[in-house]
Order: sequence, then structure tokens, then C-alpha cells
Amino acid sequence: MRVSKLFGKTLRQTPSEAENISHQLLLKAGMIHQVAAGAYSYLPLGWRALKKVENIVRQEMDDIGGQELHMPVLQPLELWQQTERDQAFGKSLFILSDRRDRKLVLAPTHEEVTTELVRRNVQSYRDLPLLLYQIQTKFRDEPRPRGGLMRVREFTMKDMYSFDTDEDAMNVSYGKIVGAYERIYQRCGLPALIVDADSGAIGGKESHEFMVIAESGEDQILYCSNCDYAANLEKADSIKAENEKEEMLSLEEIATPGIITIKDLAKFLNIPESKTLKAVFYSADGEVVFVVIRGDIEVNEVKLKNVLKCHELRLATEEEVRGAGLVAGSASPMGLTDIRRVADPSITLGANFVAGANKPDTHVKNVNYPRDFAVDIMTDIATANAGEGCPRCGGKLLFTRGIEVGHVFKLGTFFSERLGATFLDPGGVGRSIFMGSYGIGIGRLLAAAIEQNHDEKGIIWPVSIAPYQVHLCPISTDDSEVASAADRLYLQLQEEGLEVLFDDRTESPGVKLNDADLLGMPVRVILSPRTLKSQSAEVKRRSEKEAMIIPLEGSVERLKAILSR
Ligand code: ATP
Ligand code: MG
Repeated sequence: MRVSKLFGKTLRQTPSEAENISHQLLLKAGMIHQVAAGAYSYLPLGWRALKKVENIVRQEMDDIGGQELHMPVLQPLELWQQTERDQAFGKSLFILSDRRDRKLVLAPTHEEVTTELVRRNVQSYRDLPLLLYQIQTKFRDEPRPRGGLMRVREFTMKDMYSFDTDEDAMNVSYGKIVGAYERIYQRCGLPALIVDADSGAIGGKESHEFMVIAESGEDQILYCSNCDYAANLEKADSIKAENEKEEMLSLEEIATPGIITIKDLAKFLNIPESKTLKAVFYSADGEVVFVVIRGDIEVNEVKLKNVLKCHELRLATEEEVRGAGLVAGSASPMGLTDIRRVADPSITLGANFVAGANKPDTHVKNVNYPRDFAVDIMTDIATANAGEGCPRCGGKLLFTRGIEVGHVFKLGTFFSERLGATFLDPGGVGRSIFMGSYGIGIGRLLAAAIEQNHDEKGIIWPVSIAPYQVHLCPISTDDSEVASAADRLYLQLQEEGLEVLFDDRTESPGVKLNDADLLGMPVRVILSPRTLKSQSAEVKRRSEKEAMIIPLEGSVERLKAILSR
């Protein structure tokens, strides 16, 4: 490709609206262009890189026996109502009406349509297992599109779905796909960590995310310094320190004038926060729920939402709290009966806690569970923190940030049961199909690759996903010898199957070299009057500082060798 003809211009200034490195560099390099919040055009260089990622993903999916198909983005809303996922996705779901006023969805993912398709095409166990996938556009009305390609409202996803006869077979498919994912990230030049994850709106039991470790990542990860435990903070468990053992004492009311927060309470009584019980009120799809947890620990709202199986969870308003007959700031788990009570097991890691008295300006000392109050649900709803114990081995948990570049789910029979996707087993008995769902955000993967591979001058593409492999950069193109040598080399490299970006412009060397660094092709080849004097070219890998001089004779082989390192 000749740069003089290339559509898309590099920018001198870093665009001020860009929030992270990949966003800045993609805009500056003229590879993407924003059309609306979370909607981007890919210009030719950006699109080539995206296609490279796509092809790597496609190859790995095909290699494990995946069959590529294509399903529509436009889907009837009724299908989503059958699985109640219209509610699970809530406002993130784009819904529109057609000319007959029928409601349609712009699909954020394709479990419903795939299950429906398989229902009609699978009869017996002989038709299974199946791995179906597509690489296709998804729509999600994200509350906060951000970070360029990181979080957009229209994006390309590779989504695969597995169909098996039973749980064991589902686990085999899952394992195969996890293996393929590891190869994909490696081939894209991205080390990705696999972490335990929450299943979110996709549903199902178990899921794992693939994370690229990066400062700019939105996701928070805890991992063990001792074993291979790693989990998204949304999902992470931890071993909390237990308070000192003590005998249970009898209840005692104390005056706590104007004290509302746990922090003030602990200070006022000169006790650690871990000696208090914290009451938090939530509204779960409109129902006020009482949550009690040890004072030093935060509620993990993702865990709580899963426990309550609700679609919308938020902190209750003061009015709602009062309406439920509770006193905010001094609410007590004691004596409550007509409200659902959820407790975290941390309330048993100690004795004689201070809790609210459900009276203004009053608390109660020496509260002990279950002696003094009952709960409806006792389960882990605690936020894990760095420094706490690993739930697997007790080792110390450490914190890092990551970019979620893939997510795999064991769905079990959630969708097949709701949509009636069954098969006949060898005994002729109809059974629900066991499913899995597996997604990779292609554009986000591309952005993550840039976050990981750049310097202050620009992108440093891994060879596997670079828009072009070689950036041919003749200097002093007004010298006819240089111009014709560059033309010859350009043709020769292409004939030999290399992908070449040829800067045939009459720009100054400074401009050309800056652009080469910004665009980031893996190898830069300079031809100049000086190099031609010795019938040679200057070759530099974008990832290295030092350039080398190689003879023009045999240069194609040398370049191929350099690119394959
Ligand atoms: P997130 O937690 O980042 O919102 P998610 O868990 O909702 O993502 P999944 O439903 O698991 O996303 O989608 C599969 C993959 O699609 C993700 O791992 C990610 O790589 C990509 N992806 C999801 N949402 C977006 C988005 N808004 N923009 C770009 N890529 C996305
Ligand atoms: Mg996810």
C-alpha cells in the first residue's frame, strides 16, 4: 500500500478526548474515527489489524472443530422474554419497533437464537457434541462507553456455543475452548490470565474471564501469591481475620448521640470496626432487603445480586428504609421479621459485637449471632481485599488491574430448558442439552494489544496482527535513484508475499520516520542515497533501538527471517 494513496491521516497532536493509550494512538494514527458515543469507524489500517485478529480467532476455532455460521443481529423481543434476559440486560438492551410496531432487539449476544436453531436441528445424541460460532456485530447500550475501542456500544465479538449430552461432556468442550483461547492470546502477543468470574447477565453457573494485566484496565483482580487462584473482584472470595476469642456477654444498650457511621461508632467507643456489625439496606427489584455484615467488611453487590436473584439492585433510599420501619444509622438485625435478612458469615468471626438498636442515638453492645437474632439467608456476600487469605491455600492475596478480553461460561441447561432444546438419548429418552458460551471482543483485544505494545512514539504491533509487516521508507525521494530502488524493492517484497506499507510521499525524513514510529509496523526499511551507495538498506525492528545495515541482495530473506523471530 502506498502511503500517498492511503485513506486516513496521522495527527500531529494527541487528541484531547482520548482517555487511554490505545484510544490516543488509534486516533492519532488515523486508524479509527468516532461516529457517536461508543460507535467507531475503522479506517483501512485499523480494519486490517482487526481482520488479522479475527483470522487468528477463526483459525483456532476451526482447529478445535468449530463450525462457523452467521446469525442475525435483529431478533424478536419475545425470544428474549422467554428466557427473561430482556430484564437481565435491562437498559443495555437496544430495543426498537418495526413498521408493524413489533418489538425487536439488536442482539448483545446470541444464546437465545443459537439455542432455538439447535432445537430445530438436533434430534439425537448422535448429533452432539456441536461447536458453533460466528464473528459478528453486537450491540449493547453501555451506560458509559469509554476508552476508544475498549467499551463501545457496537462491537465485533466472536461468540461460540457448545452443545453436549451431559455435564462431563460440556466440561470437555469447555476445556478445549479454554485451550484455544490461550493460543489465541499468545498468538496476538498478549499474555492473558484466566480468572474466576461472575456470570452476569449471561447466566449459568461457572465462568472464567481472560484478563490482560494492565494499569488502564477497568477490571480488578485478586490473585494468590502462593497458588494459581485468581478471580475478578466481583467474584473473589477470601479468608478474613477472626476477632479474638471471648465469652459471650449479655446485651447492653448504650447511648451514641449523633453517631451514624461505622467509622464514627468505632471511634466513639474506641473499638476496631471489626467489633461492630454493619447494617445495609438494599432495594432488590423494589423489595427492601436488610443486609448485615461485620463492620470492617464491604458488601459485594455482585454476590448479593446473585443471592437475591434480582435484576436491579441498589441502595435503598432513606424513605424506603423509614417506610420499612427501620432507623438508618442505627438499624438493628434484632427483632426484625417482616423484611428479608441476608447475613455474611463474617458476623460469626468474633463475639460481642456492637450493633444498632433500631432507636435513634442508641446502639447495643454484646450482640451475638445466632443468640440474639435470626437471618433468612447466611452466605458469602463479602468483598475480598488484597492482603487477606486465599480461599484455596490461605496464601496472601494480591491486587492487580486487567482488561477483560474474553469470557467463557458453563451454561448447563439454563437456555435449553427454557427454549425446549432437547435430544433423545440412546434409550430414546428426551433430555436437555448442556451448553456453554464463549466470547472474545475482537476490537477490545486489538486495543489491549496496543495497551501492552507501545512506547512514547507510537504503536509497536506484534507481527501477527500488524496491518502491514514492513514499512518501506525511502528518504530523499527526489533522488531518482532512491525512488526507483524503492519502487523495485516494494514490488519485490510484495511478490515474495510480504505485506508492505510504502511511504512514497515527498515528505521530510522527520515526518516520515515519526509516522513510521506512530503507525508501528514491525520492521522499518530505509533506503537513502547513503545506503544505496553500498547497495544496502537500513533495517530496524520497531521493538528495538538499534538499526542494522543489510545488503539489498538477499534482503527479502533477511526480512522474512527477522519477522519470524
Ligand atoms: P464487561 O464486563 O467488560 O462489560 P461483559 O462481561 O459484559 O463485559 P461478555 O458478555 O462476557 O462481556 O462479552 C464477551 C466479551 O466481549 C468480553 O470478554 C469483551 O472482550 C467483549 N465486550 C463486552 N462488552 C464490550 C463492549 N462494550 N465493548 C467492547 N467489547 C466488549
Ligand atoms: Mg464478561
